[in-house]
Parts: sequence; structure tokens; C-alpha cells
Amino acid sequence: MLYKEPAPIKDRENPFESMMSRFNIAAEILGLDEEVYNVLKTPTRQVIVNVPVTMDDGKVRVFEGYRVIHSTILGPSKGGVRFAPDVFLDEVKALAAWMTWKCAVVDIPYGGAKGGVICDPFSMSAGEMERLTRAYTQALVDTFGPDQDIPAPDMGTGPREMAWLMDEYSRMKGSTIHAVVTGKPLVLGGSLGRVEATGRGVMVSAMAAMDKLGMDPAKSTAVIQGFGNVGAWAAKLMSERGVKILGVSDVSGAYWNDNGIDIEEAIEYKNNNKGRLEGYENAEKISNDELLVSKVDVLVPAAVEDVITIKNVDQIQARLIVEGANGPTSYKADNIINEKGIMVVPDILANSGGVTVSYFEWVQNRMGFKWTLDRVNERAERIMNESFERVYAASQKYNVPMRIAAYIVAIDKVAMTYKYRGGF
Ligand code: NDP
Repeated sequence: MLYKEPAPIKDRENPFESMMSRFNIAAEILGLDEEVYNVLKTPTRQVIVNVPVTMDDGKVRVFEGYRVIHSTILGPSKGGVRFAPDVFLDEVKALAAWMTWKCAVVDIPYGGAKGGVICDPFSMSAGEMERLTRAYTQALVDTFGPDQDIPAPDMGTGPREMAWLMDEYSRMKGSTIHAVVTGKPLVLGGSLGRVEATGRGVMVSAMAAMDKLGMDPAKSTAVIQGFGNVGAWAAKLMSERGVKILGVSDVSGAYWNDNGIDIEEAIEYKNNNKGRLEGYENAEKISNDELLVSKVDVLVPAAVEDVITIKNVDQIQARLIVEGANGPTSYKADNIINEKGIMVVPDILANSGGVTVSYFEWVQNRMGFKWTLDRVNERAERIMNESFERVYAASQKYNVPMRIAAYIVAIDKVAMTYKYRGGF
């Protein structure tokens, strides 16, 4: 059967335009000069590859893949590789730019990149996935490199694919090069603490924001949309800090308990139930839409893009939104959120714990040395807290919401570095 193209995405804002609209506001406030604006508004490089892969039925299918390098001003570019049926170039461009801003916000010496391959990983065998990952790596061997461009996992890829990528790259270069990719399995140079790093960063930034708002975690409630890597870890670590998690959700729906969800129990249930919360009993089942507008203090979207939109923003009751996911709030909803006085810890700050520990993985690989879990967590926590304070200070100084403040901090850092490095 021929590969069926995914249906066009409806009702979704163009992610690149969405990113640019925030970038433009921050650039104007900063008085960014035209030269730097023009450098930063477009990606440095966009590579499109078409890789033939032999499928299990013996037929060869050609997959389209992308690697977009948005910027290398701060250092080698960094960003995940997404395997998904609906991935498209404008999305990869937006995600690459987000990586530039994310690395700049947390002050790590990386530029931003992102990759993608149009495929359906859930319908492919392990052998097909391996051949596709190796083919994609071969096609981009001159783009990737520990001092050039360092991929990582994203939707549809994980440690297994990163191990293949590292192996294929190393074979082509004739020596083992761990630092070409992060998010590897622990035995292959992965870092302790990487798996929970993004959820941990979400928790740290939630605590910092609650402190600013005078909220006592032990008297606060939260809901978490998405119970995967980011959502489940954020839920677990926030509940350990005393926050009562009233609801959690995945694709099967949302699960609500007035007395608080027992997060350890829900994680165990999910792990024993093929990764799904479907059928979880110690809670009332509600819809994902209801979860987002429920009466809680903190809302943590940790699933997919564009879930807080003009369609539901009016009904949001939380005082604080901490964006675990990338791009969960559409830019058209920003103004209403601001009018309602809701504080948002934006994605480029809240979920940057992941890239921070990826950076630690790269540092450890280059040192040929492994850090302890305590060292990883303590350093990541410090970076998250310092970054939060930088963004909060900018929001006070310019009298702007946290999202625009995060863009201001990031763009300012990249622009200043560009001024030193210079163009042609
Ligand atoms: P996972 O695939 O591990 O988890 C995603 C979760 O979201 C799953 O529980 C999934 O449910 C759920 N979900 C998917 N679609 C919906 C939906 N429409 N409504 C409700 N729940 C849904 O992904 P991650 O946790 O790794 O990533 C989540 C988000 O965080 C993404 O936006 C990602 O880009 C971002 N992020 C992740 C980082 C990381 O280190 N992992 C780093 C920075 C950002 P189900 O299991 O039923 O499919």
C-alpha cells in the first residue's frame, strides 16, 4: 500500500508565525537594530533530504526529512529530531528558533536547530525505524557534529534512535563520537537525571513563580495535561512539594479527584497499562477540555501545541500557567491571558530543564567523565532558578508579561553575541 499523506492540520496557527509574532514584540521593545533583526528572523540553514529506506515487505519507500539550523551565534546548534506523520517545514523552522531562544534564556552555549522526518513511527517495525534513522543520519553527516549541530530526541524518537544515530555517525567518521547527540541510553554516554530533567525544570519554575505570587505550594492545587515524560515527572515532583494535583490526563481523557490524585499510583497504573491512564479508577473521568478550564491554582499543559486558544482562554480559571509543552498557548490567546492577570511561565523557560541536562550530557561526554545524579540535579536547579530570576527581572523592568520578557532576555543575549562576532 502506498504511504497515505496525513490530513491537513485544521484550526492550527502557523507555528512559525506564532513564534515570530512574539519575537517581533520583544524585538521592538528592545529596539533591536535592523541588521540583527534580519539575521535572527530567518534560519541560517534549511536542509531537506529524501532518503530511500527498504521496508519489511521488501519495497523501498522514500521519506522526506528536514534539519533546520536557526542560529549558531551562541555555539553549535542543538535541537531534537521529530518523527511524525504531520511534521512540516514551518513547524521545524519554528521549533529550531524556539531552541535558539531556549538555550539563550538558560545561558548555555548553544544555537538552535530542529529536525524532522515525515513518517508514522507507531506503524513502523524496529528494523524500519533503525534503517530510517541511519539513512537520515547518513544524509546529514556533514551537518551533524559535536562542534557543529547536536541532535536529541523529540516526539517519535527516544534513546534507541539516538543510539543508532550516534553509532551511524561514529561509523562514518571512523571513531566513537558520543558527543554528537544527547538523550542517549545511560550505558552509551547518557546523563543521569536526563529522563526527568524537563519535568524537574517545570517543577522548579512552578515553585519560583508561586513564590513570586505569594502562593503556598502546600495550599495550592494543580492540573497537568499530558502524562508522558514531562507531565508525569512534573506531577510527581510538584506533589512531592505539597501541591495537590487534582487532575491529570492523556489522550484517553482526564482523571479528576477532589482529594488529589495519588501520582505514584497513577504512574504505576499507567506503566502496567501499556502507557495509558485509560480505566484508571481512583478518579472521576472528565474531558481534556474540562481539565484545562477547571478551578485550580496552577495549570500545566504538558502534552501538545495549541491547547490554550481563543476558544477556551476566557474560561481558564488558573492563576498560573507553567508551559511544560512547546507552544501550548496560541499567540492569539496571549492578550486575553494578560488581561486576565494570569502569570505564564513560558515554554522557552519552563521546559528548558531538558536542554540544560542535555548540555550536561555533552559536557560529560567531552570530559569522558560521569557526574552523580545529585550534581546534575543541583546544577540544573540552579540554572533554572537563575534563569527564572533573569526573566522575572526583565518582566518588571520592561513591564511586560513573562513570555515577552523571556524573548527579550534571549534575543538580547543572542544580539549582543552577534555584535561581537559580527557579520560579513
Ligand atoms: P510524551 O510523548 O512522553 O507524552 C505526551 C503526553 O501527552 C502523553 O501522556 C500523551 O498521551 C499526552 N497527549 C498527547 N496528545 C494529547 C492530547 N491531545 N490531549 C491530552 N493529552 C495528550 O511527550 P513528552 O512528555 O516528552 O513531551 C510533552 C511536551 O513537552 C511536548 O510538547 C514536547 O515537545 C515538550 N518537551 C519535551 C521535552 C522532553 O525532554 N521530553 C523537552 C522540552 C519540551 P498518550 O500517552 O495517551 O498518547
